[in-house]
Amino acid sequence: LPLFSDILFEARAVAQSLVDLSAGAHVRLGVTGLSRAGKTVFITALIEHLTKATSPSLRGRKNPLPVFRVHAEGRLISGALEPQPDDNVPRFAYEDHMEALAGPDGRVEARRWPQSTRRISELRLRLEYQQKAGLRPGRHALTLDIVDYPGEWLLDLPLLSKSFAQWSKESFAAASTAARAPLSAQWRGFAALKDARAKFNEEDARRAAELFTTYLRACRAEEYNFSSLPPGRFLMPGDLAGSPALTFAPLAIEPNDIFAPDSLAAMMERRYEAYKAHVVKPFFRDHFSRLDRQIVLVDALAALNAGPAAMRDLELALGDVLTAFRAGRGNVLSALFRPKIDRILFAATKADHLHHTSHDRLEAILHHLTARAIARVENVGAEVDVIALAAVRATREARVNGHGGPALEAVIGVPLDGERIGDELFDGKTEAAIFPGELPADPRAVFRDPAHDPRRPALAHEIDYRFVRFRPPVATRAADGSLLPPPHIRLDRALQFLLGDKLT
Ligand code: GDP
Repeated sequence: LPLFSDILFEARAVAQSLVDLSAGAHVRLGVTGLSRAGKTVFITALIEHLTKATSPSLRGRKNPLPVFRVHAEGRLISGALEPQPDDNVPRFAYEDHMEALAGPDGRVEARRWPQSTRRISELRLRLEYQQKAGLRPGRHALTLDIVDYPGEWLLDLPLLSKSFAQWSKESFAAASTAARAPLSAQWRGFAALKDARAKFNEEDARRAAELFTTYLRACRAEEYNFSSLPPGRFLMPGDLAGSPALTFAPLAIEPNDIFAPDSLAAMMERRYEAYKAHVVKPFFRDHFSRLDRQIVLVDALAALNAGPAAMRDLELALGDVLTAFRAGRGNVLSALFRPKIDRILFAATKADHLHHTSHDRLEAILHHLTARAIARVENVGAEVDVIALAAVRATREARVNGHGGPALEAVIGVPLDGERIGDELFDGKTEAAIFPGELPADPRAVFRDPAHDPRRPALAHEIDYRFVRFRPPVATRAADGSLLPPPHIRLDRALQFLLGDKLT
């Protein structure tokens, strides 16, 4: 005779499967990348496309998502926003962002890029679709939770297995490299004057944290564009701005040094440990570990613009980011969280800055940037792909006659107010043809310092590209006055990789 508890267990299992059936399948998609990588623009465009794909105002127009199969095959029935799943996470401000892109109250001249990601937020979409003939016929639903969070937060994961002394040592070493030394001089100068054994005082801690943060920020500035700069919350504090949890900095100490409990070193260590326990761990446990799929956006063009040191730094940072995806699979972090991410897409954003002849080269550069790290994640069974895309395409292409020479490939758009190329200063109102130059065919070229590479003296002219930032495109409207989703490059390919198999 079956035990009563077994029957109860069975009943519960059946009930749960009924709930699953009625609720349909569910995917939590993480969208991350370092600040300004393009997360906000990507999510806004993605929602705009998914909610409007089947709208009557698009009927008779060319399908903007030909590679997204469920739609190309005519099986997508609808995409609609749904109420927020988690009460304690802010909602992704899709409507505000869309209004910024289109221009408030339809005033296209006031259009601008939306407010970038500063903290975690999420939004739920429900996609209804028809299954492929032969499988379960009828209407089905996929609930898609999109979770937007700063990539800087992922860079904190390695801290969990580092002591304060270890982290201090590494931070000083990184800050003293040729590229960073001038930026960190003030902080290092201050730290050198402070005795780690001296009695703790809040003013010193505050000043050290401030100078350390200023140094990290300087590294992020456009001309340097360094990427690997933990702790993540120092650059992207989210709701912790100004909080004591962020009032610490590395000290010049050694791993085996011993300090009195009321010393500067002991207090800094306590705060560092508190940061790990109360900021880093909860993020990984409560948010990161629940993701099923992940897209990592990378502004490779900004790093290219800043030069080889920035590219090498980006490679390091992406390696750290990927450590997060491997964590929990049979290493010290398994006890903390177990990511179940089975697909990761790396996307080089803003491909519309380049002529399409360079898109594959941009992809090749991203491949190269992530190759070593990807080999390690593929080992743990996640499927990985790399793509160059523009979530919102702000340019169109043209061939411009060279004066007497061959025709040149250009992109045409409205450069942002204040952008410049050489002597030319743009006012944000006028269209201009930009010759971005060609990315090198050999992706390795962008990691080498031409000045320091005696083997390749000809390299300097190979790396000849210029990018300016453009204003968003002028929104187009359907005959009924409704906004059409913005033009894009390869957004549909990204959608197919991230969701296609869940919509068959
Ligand atoms: P986040 O910090 O990752 O949220 O970055 P955003 O999504 O706010 O993007 C930062 C900036 O990059 C925007 O303000 C735009 O200037 C630019 N950008 C982002 N995506 C695109 C794109 O698809 N095309 C172009 N031309 N610019 C983009």
